[in-house]
Amino acid sequence: MSDRFAEKMRETAVVHDTRLLGDFAVIYCRGNHADEAKAPLASDGAALGVYGARPPVVCDRCADLLAYAEKRRAYCPKDPKPFCSHCDTHCYTSEQAEYMREVMRYAGPRSLLHGHAVDGIKHVIEGRKAKRTAAARAADIDREGSR
Ligand SMILES: [Zn+2]
Repeated sequence: MSDRFAEKMRETAVVHDTRLLGDFAVIYCRGNHADEAKAPLASDGAALGVYGARPPVVCDRCADLLAYAEKRRAYCPKDPKPFCSHCDTHCYTSEQAEYMREVMRYAGPRSLLHGHAVDGIKHVIEGRKAKRTAAARAADIDREGSR
């Protein structure tokens, strides 16, 4: 593990993004890889405590994706980082990019039920008009949550 990786993994935004992906992977893996053996993630990020005391429990393939995503996130050259889906730098391999899109598509909407209303909506919805609708819905969900 490089110093730069370890350093980046301490940044609030990186921790936030990485944990979000961990939650997404758990939702996706539970729903799509029900028959696969699962184990707590043992990535470099997990070793650094990025996911907190309980790393995401996922199958091998999803674990590979998360370990890969940690690296991509840590070495992202953009500051501030745009949403990956809106970025002009394609740093993921096409295979991992497609897998990640699948995870996002599946877990994004479902993550609304797991306390990621705003993040989920931002990641899933493309386009300005869709974003406006989503923000209104996120506000509704936030109101529901604060009651
Ligand atoms: Zn999986």
